[in-house]
This record gives sequence, C-alpha cells and structure tokens, in this order.
Amino acid sequence: MSDSLTVSFGSLHSGPVRRAWRLEDPAELLGSLPADLEAVELEVEVVGTMREGVRARGRVRSTVNCTCRRCLAALQIPLDAAFDAWFRAEPEVTAGEDGIWGVSEKAAEIDLAPAVREEVLLGIPAYPVCAVDCAGLCPTCGVRLADEECTCPPPGPDPRWAALTELASDEE
Ligand SMILES: [Zn+2]
Ligand SMILES: [Zn+2]
Repeated sequence: MSDSLTVSFGSLHSGPVRRAWRLEDPAELLGSLPADLEAVELEVEVVGTMREGVRARGRVRSTVNCTCRRCLAALQIPLDAAFDAWFRAEPEVTAGEDGIWGVSEKAAEIDLAPAVREEVLLGIPAYPVCAVDCAGLCPTCGVRLADEECTCPPPGPDPRWAALTELASDEE
C-alpha cells in the first residue's frame, strides 16, 4: 500500500507543508480510472487551518497510455495539470463544488485523493488522435492510411442513395 495522499492538520500549524508523492499504481489510491496510466506524480504545497480552510496547490503529472481513435496506433499522452483544491469543514460545502471539498470537523487530516482523482479524470483525453489530420484506417482492408496506400477502389455511391434516386426517377 502506498503512502496515502493525506496531510494532517497538525503538520500545518507551523506553516505551509510541501509534499510529493509518486503513485506507481494510481488506481490503488485514486480508484479505477477510465484509462491506463503510468505512475502519477503529485507535488503540492498545503497551507491553512481547519477554521479558515486549507488550500493545496501544485501539479499532477502522469502519462496516459491510449490508442488513436482513428487509426488505433498506440499513443503516450503526457498529463500535466495544475492542482488547486480548497478543503473546508462540512457541512458548509458540497463535495467537489468549484474545487472545494468538505472535511469532517472531526477529521485529523485532509485526504487529497478525491481532488487528485478529479484532476486526473479531467486530464485524460476524451478523443486522443495521433495527429490532427490522421487519416485513420481503410474501411475495406484495414491498413493504416498514414503508413501505406492501399489498393482498395474508392468507396462507391451508397446503395441506399441509389434506391432513392430510382424512386425519384420513377415518379417523373
Ligand atoms: Zn491515428
Ligand atoms: Zn484498403
């Protein structure tokens, strides 16, 4: 089990706390993620008190292993995002609203994991492509069109349109 992503209120009494973590298995602390991620690195500076609220600022970095949505080439996309989360005593706040997270008044520490998870989820590309002009795969033979020119004939007119054209000419 990795070191959990927590900072105790006690450690904040003497000023800002700087912490860094490297999560070799991100899902272990962040929960299951919709993409395959390399180790997640988190660097934060945490400052504040339970009464006034605690602010954690820093960066989250990782690498997302995914495939091009058009040609299926393997991709490694860097994830590098600013991290900025406020933690305030409940019940003043709803979890995660505008980057503000509730903390139980009885808590001895803040847990950064839900806020880090949110930042990681936002950093995972929804539609990764290897190049903005990726030509994708030939729909007939499946070759990756950026690698080789296939010999498939260009796609003919859609048979559904042909049927409509026939109908139209019958009516004349
Ligand atoms: Zn591609
Ligand atoms: Zn082809």
